[in-house]
Amino acid sequence: MGEMVDIIIIGAGPAGLSAAVNALIRGKRVRIFSNKDNKLSKAERVDNHLGFYHMSGKELMDKFKEHAEAMGIRIEEGKAVNILPLGDSFLVNISGQIIEAKKVILATGISKIRELPGEERLLGSGVSYCATCDGMLYRGKKAVVWDQSEDAWEEANFLQSIGVNVTFVSDKPRHENLSDNVEYIKGRIEEILGENTVEAVKIGNEIIKTDAVFMLRDAVAPDALIEGLELDGSFISVNKHMETNIPGLYAAGDITGKPLQLSKAISEGLIAAQNAALQIDKKES
Ligand SMILES: Cc1cc2nc3c(=O)[nH]c(=O)nc-3n(C[C@H](O)[C@H](O)[C@H](O)COP(=O)(O)OP(=O)(O)OC[C@H]3O[C@@H](n4cnc5c(N)ncnc54)[C@H](O)[C@@H]3O)c2cc1C
Repeated sequence: MGEMVDIIIIGAGPAGLSAAVNALIRGKRVRIFSNKDNKLSKAERVDNHLGFYHMSGKELMDKFKEHAEAMGIRIEEGKAVNILPLGDSFLVNISGQIIEAKKVILATGISKIRELPGEERLLGSGVSYCATCDGMLYRGKKAVVWDQSEDAWEEANFLQSIGVNVTFVSDKPRHENLSDNVEYIKGRIEEILGENTVEAVKIGNEIIKTDAVFMLRDAVAPDALIEGLELDGSFISVNKHMETNIPGLYAAGDITGKPLQLSKAISEGLIAAQNAALQIDKKES
């Protein structure tokens, strides 16, 4: 584990980048992690962000990144899979790398995740969101990898290479780069079965026995990231300081609810970062 950072930001969309810039301006040590995919880049044309108009989402996103990078912010690629509050700090698991931070800002955008029956109940008991984190636990055992992100095949190959007996389930044709040793089933997982740990998955009418299920989605449902997080429907509950119910954990942008718009995301990123910085300063003065 490296040096403790002041603020770790999860998600590098408009909310996360705005938080990063503002935390930096407040003199804080920041790290920002994100998946590749970003909502705004898909917008054909954005006209309602003051001062920038007739621009595509991609042009705007490039501007935001340019701004952050010009200030010395490096966007690191990685998926947050778990956050553990320790009282005065947090341990954040980013694709298997553990980072300690005083404050955490969640800026992960809306998650359209539809959890599978059995998924939440068996999370940590055979259900995993991270092959590099949990792969070793299943050496010599069976694991199913469900293809829900562009690079799921890489994770399946990785698991197979460390001695896990992998079955890759996908509704797309077999990926050309999937290792020959990995079994492939065309289909969709409908349910995860098991009493106290994962025992099998249901694919159509078939029951396939397995010890683990790796759900390699690009995003993770916010309440699966951290225990006890208060939600309002599928959004995270926050107060006007962008504080969640967990002390030291902030949320900003689409993840906190409507309107799902750029200017709101940017403002909330600023509010979250300024409050996080203020709390750090108060404690350390
Ligand atoms: C087609 C389209 C058109 C739009 N047009 C407009 C418009 O004209 N005007 C307007 O104001 N808004 C528009 N929007 C909405 C706007 O894009 C969003 O409000 C804005 O992007 C929200 O910013 P955000 O930072 O909260 O989330 P996002 O932009 O969704 O960014 C979240 C980031 O977090 C990453 N992430 C998620 N989970 C994790 C994890 N576990 N670990 C690491 N990273 C993670 C994601 O990959 C993503 O990069 C449009 C959206 C779409 C899809």
